[in-house]
Amino acid sequence: MSATSTSNGAKNGKVVPAAYPPPVDSPQEFVKRGLDAEDELIEVGVAIVGGGTAGLACANRLLQLLADDPDLMERLGEVPVAVIEKAKTCGGHNLSGAVMRPGPLQELFPDMTREEWRKEGFAFGEVTKEAVYMTPTSKIALRVPTPPPFKNHGNEIVSVSALARYQQRQAEEGGAYVLTETSATQLIVEDGRVVGVRSGDKGRGKEGEPLGNFEPGTDIKAKAVVLAEGCWGHLTGAAIREFELADGREPQVWELGVKEVWKVPKPLDRLIHTVGPWPAKISGKYGQVGGTWLYPMKDERTGDHLVSLGFVIGLEYADATTSPHDLLQTFKLHPLVRKILDGGERVAWGAKALPGGGYWSMPKLSMPGAVIVGDAGGMVDTAALKGVHHCLNSGKLAAEAIYRGLKNGETSFESYEYMIEDSITGRELYEVRNLRQPFQKGFLKGGPLVNLAIATRGKLPPGRLAWHRNDEKPMFIGNTWKRYPRPDGRYTFDKLSSVFITGNATRDDAPNHIRVQKHVPREVAETWKWMCPAGVYEIPEDAPETGPVDVIVNYTNCVQCGAITAKGGRLTTPEGGDGPLYQIT
Ligand SMILES: Cc1cc2nc3c(=O)[nH]c(=O)nc-3n(C[C@H](O)[C@H](O)[C@H](O)COP(=O)(O)OP(=O)(O)OC[C@H]3O[C@@H](n4cnc5c(N)ncnc54)[C@H](O)[C@@H]3O)c2cc1C
Ligand code: SF4
Repeated sequence: MSATSTSNGAKNGKVVPAAYPPPVDSPQEFVKRGLDAEDELIEVGVAIVGGGTAGLACANRLLQLLADDPDLMERLGEVPVAVIEKAKTCGGHNLSGAVMRPGPLQELFPDMTREEWRKEGFAFGEVTKEAVYMTPTSKIALRVPTPPPFKNHGNEIVSVSALARYQQRQAEEGGAYVLTETSATQLIVEDGRVVGVRSGDKGRGKEGEPLGNFEPGTDIKAKAVVLAEGCWGHLTGAAIREFELADGREPQVWELGVKEVWKVPKPLDRLIHTVGPWPAKISGKYGQVGGTWLYPMKDERTGDHLVSLGFVIGLEYADATTSPHDLLQTFKLHPLVRKILDGGERVAWGAKALPGGGYWSMPKLSMPGAVIVGDAGGMVDTAALKGVHHCLNSGKLAAEAIYRGLKNGETSFESYEYMIEDSITGRELYEVRNLRQPFQKGFLKGGPLVNLAIATRGKLPPGRLAWHRNDEKPMFIGNTWKRYPRPDGRYTFDKLSSVFITGNATRDDAPNHIRVQKHVPREVAETWKWMCPAGVYEIPEDAPETGPVDVIVNYTNCVQCGAITAKGGRLTTPEGGDGPLYQIT
């Protein structure tokens, strides 16, 4: 709770979600002290938690190095590299814009051309034309010169969920054991060192009771553990607390993006970004800072013309009725967008949070026995909306540091931290280290400082600008909701039909993986209800207009976007295999 708030969280008549923390005891629940007996565990060489872009880049690079080093490969045992992924298949839980800087992927797979990326079905063309617009109102779009963070000429449009599937195939061909449908639920620590992770139980009922198909989890012992869990890392959070990795850093903050993919009759000829303020509100009181994208995608295999479009908003906003899902629906009504999607059909939808704090919010990236890669380590430049190449770069560097460490019989991989600092990731994130914080004052007040940071390539403003925790923002019930269109089911959609097309397969009697207090002030309940893109939170119709209300949590709708963690709740790992099955997001 912030220092100035009162004991019930009220602050100037507003309510701070942090005053209603989730019922979680991280050290007790998510850290296991010591391994089970040798005959009850699985032993692997390197355990990578998370089969997304970063984790798989680490697996891909490690296997390349091990292919030239049969001695070390043998020393790592029968399973030299294991990837633990909670989705049904790698890629199932991955979502991004995504326009990618191509360098790190070219370095990871140097024998592949960009034409081959497209034939494999994870890349959709090089950016040759681009435009940036301000959208002051729902009708007007003013073209503005492209600010440096938005320059994308020569970059490639990709789908991270398709890329992860490709990386999974490469990893398996190289000898990795990819355990899909498996959640890593506990970090195993012995003598001050990470020595493995525990996989989650399967087949428990709503109250946690074992069902007929119950399978207990297993300890997975490893010589090195890589935490590649993406934006809100369940074990990463536990590791950060256990090893005090965020001491002296700024708090992490988050943004939430909602995305759709449309098949369109006419190809979009350029990449488009809009920088607002519409569909968000311009007044600083609402605290809304968001932007949108429209990326052209040509599917080389089918010849289809597709468009990726999405809306991203910082989770520092103050109006509880801010709904990123509905703001994306609102955005589609702008004439700029209408003419692009006209006659088309929505083929995919998804939502995901991303870490927004940048350089100053990154935790220390190594601890005894383990390292953190990708979004789990906060390696995203949110001004440019770029993280994919940092994930690939960090996964690759982690593999190289671990390979060298294991060869020398070491159990710590601290050299990885210096490698990151000296690489494009460290350099690019340092340059934009103070760029986003001024927006905490709102679009109008913060804009000039943001422009200064861009113009001076990060030299000004000087020093280290602070971040304020998203969950300490006092929330009020405003009127942003009045902007949202009534869904017509053809062009604009409600949350549940959106969740439906993700292929979400959470079983109805699964245990609840969302931790929130269920009796909270209406401001907090409204915040969750509107923010959640999957319609998980409901307030009963007969609940009082003010004061505390009971919240209904329809957790089986959850698409595991992670945003709830920014506003007073906690996403924990669901049973392996649950959640969406993204294909092209
Ligand atoms: C809306 C949006 C738009 C973006 N646009 C762009 C863009 O245009 N260009 C760009 O470069 N970047 C963009 N980014 C950022 C980029 O997408 C991310 O930086 C990147 O995809 C993150 O990759 P990752 O591998 O670190 O994490 P993820 O892709 O999140 O992968 C983590 C994986 O770990 C698994 N996992 C997590 N915890 C566990 C566990 N305990 N047990 C088992 N499995 C687990 C998850 O299921 C997931 O598959 C965008 C991000 C978002 C959200
Ligand atoms: S309940 Fe799930 S989908 Fe909804 S905000 Fe939380 S993590 Fe995202």
